[in-house]
Amino acid sequence: MLNESVINIKGVGEKLEEALIEMNIHSIEDLLFYFPNRYDNYQIKPLHELVHDEKVTIEGEVIGNPSLTFYGRKKSRLVISLQVEHMVVKGIMFNRPFAKKQLHPGDIVTLTGKWDQHRLQITVSNYKKGRAKSQDAIQPIYSLKGNVTNKQFVKLVKTAIQLYGNYVEEILPDTYLMNYKLPNREDALRQMHFPTNFQILKHAKRRFIYEEFLLFQLKMQWMKKRKKEATIGNSQNYDEQKLSTFIKKLPFTLTGAQQRSLDEILVDMKSPNRMNRLLQGDVGSGKTAVAAISLYASITCGKQGALMVPTEILAEQHYQSLKEMFEGYASVALLTGSIKGKNRKDILSKIHAHDVDLVIGTHALIQDEVVFSDLGMVVVDEQHRFGVRQRRTLREKGLYPDVLFMTATPIPRTLAITTFGDMDVSQIDEMPSGRKEVETYWVKDNMLDRVLTFIKREVQQGYQAYVICPLIEESDKLDIQNAVDLYHQLQTYYEPEIKVGLMHGRLHVDEKEEVMHQFSMNEIQVLVSTTVVEVGVNIPNATVMVIYDAERFGLSQLHQLRGRVGRGDAQSYCILVADPKGEVGKERMRIMTETTNGFELSEQDLQLRGPGDFFGKKQSGLPDFKVADVVHDYRALETARRDAQSIIQSELLHDKLYEKLHALLKQDEQLNGDALD
Ligand code: ADP
Ligand code: MG
Repeated sequence: MLNESVINIKGVGEKLEEALIEMNIHSIEDLLFYFPNRYDNYQIKPLHELVHDEKVTIEGEVIGNPSLTFYGRKKSRLVISLQVEHMVVKGIMFNRPFAKKQLHPGDIVTLTGKWDQHRLQITVSNYKKGRAKSQDAIQPIYSLKGNVTNKQFVKLVKTAIQLYGNYVEEILPDTYLMNYKLPNREDALRQMHFPTNFQILKHAKRRFIYEEFLLFQLKMQWMKKRKKEATIGNSQNYDEQKLSTFIKKLPFTLTGAQQRSLDEILVDMKSPNRMNRLLQGDVGSGKTAVAAISLYASITCGKQGALMVPTEILAEQHYQSLKEMFEGYASVALLTGSIKGKNRKDILSKIHAHDVDLVIGTHALIQDEVVFSDLGMVVVDEQHRFGVRQRRTLREKGLYPDVLFMTATPIPRTLAITTFGDMDVSQIDEMPSGRKEVETYWVKDNMLDRVLTFIKREVQQGYQAYVICPLIEESDKLDIQNAVDLYHQLQTYYEPEIKVGLMHGRLHVDEKEEVMHQFSMNEIQVLVSTTVVEVGVNIPNATVMVIYDAERFGLSQLHQLRGRVGRGDAQSYCILVADPKGEVGKERMRIMTETTNGFELSEQDLQLRGPGDFFGKKQSGLPDFKVADVVHDYRALETARRDAQSIIQSELLHDKLYEKLHALLKQDEQLNGDALD
């Protein structure tokens, strides 16, 4: 019934149908579930509650004859006096001279229009003789395309509800409706379009918010379960003896959070299903250490491992530190785009021949020419910088390798459970002991002198500083120009006592390497850089991070940059130089100075930016919810997630009570054939 075409409704002609198609409304069901995007309130309020300049509705008795004046060509102004409560209110109507004949002293009329509090006067956009009918008090306003009017659409929806409303079936088990006090589907649908009052509307919305979230979570978790089942057979029975020796040899003991995450990973690896896990933790919380141990676990099973990172600098840094860590345990190779010629050929053939155990690299790792002999474990660092396709390509270089994604951009809880509904998540929410919090200050441009003096003082004490130069929207070229200018200025200011270096994306790899090398050897004390140092760079002796035009960066990015300092034992500082004009910019600066906890910060970032903007819509993996909002309604989301989990885990979908939900999921899967990946 509901999947019949909308043209079955009387009055839908070709024109209207065209507009409906443009709005993606094909079936009756589409129409019924095309909810208003807002509501106009024609509820009558007492005069003293009316707000100046707002659209209001009043009801009163006409006193005296309306007075009509003409002006200009064909323009007119009609003034009516109304008694409302105990006051006289004027109603002004433009260019509707005919209304004079319809309105007589003693008539009760309902007027809607813009309210002028000072003159006690309403500029009428709509009038009606008689009292306001309560069912018209709240008017749905739809977001429409083509030349269909709101009035037409309202009529259409009314007809559709009359004819087909009865066919809207409940899909949730009764117990859910009772437990959460939700209206049934049909009632809620009627109320969404034509609410009796705002309280009832709220409950109708609650119902659909929950329904949307539950369906979404069911889908994610169902997929997750089936994905797992599809990969049976990859148990990695690592050598516990070797692994514990390796861990003992590390120059530190794991934090509780690291140990917990590692245990979760090892359980996944041993299990016969493929691991698909996200490891979240602030910069410096020790994710890489955990990843390295996991990679070694796989290597003890005679497998190979791969670590993919987003930039060459990072690849090289990881390569250096992991080579050291694996010394005497496993062989490590580096593969990036700039490794060419014979060298590259050698590495490729070693990977193929299993002469290397662990390969660290950039996108270069996913090229066709890279063929592993037996890839058992894949780690992807800063996973959100890679597209879904790239991550998949790397994974497909092995037979169901276990996959660990890492991110230092802590994903807000609210997003983690939606976006990564099909991933398991481990969190390192604790820093290794002995780390001091980075002190963060926000200064205006006019304090730059003091900032430069401050850097000098730190350098004189043997420390180093980063200076991140202004970001120019979308223009790599201008960014570099900026960096070069700033570099020259600072050279003039500091040299020769203090050496200034320059780093940006256009430098040749050798040059970059040279600069980073000099900075890490403290041959350069002040490094001017674009945001290329954002990810993962580790120079523990650097204690100052100055960020110019900080208001141009998002919170997460600022937090990333701040994470470049505070990596050693000394107190570190982050100085945000910014004169934000807007409130959001100011708010960002304030938040930065108040919290260093990445999880908390990301939550706030999400609030400021909204979910679509957080990763970019594509990668967030969020569907377009009709009613629900992941930020605003996250409690409903958590509830829905828990319910979905218990439904899937207890295999309830085959139960009669859940048959409607089950059918919906199956239908959805058919529509998205490749949904499994
Ligand atoms: P992340 O990858 O999360 O940014 P890393 O694993 O690179 O963090 O660790 C940052 C620094 O802290 C490294 O120098 C690492 O050797 C050190 N580190 C890691 N775990 C610990 C720990 N449990 N105790 C002390 N230092 C640690
Ligand atoms: Mg496994």
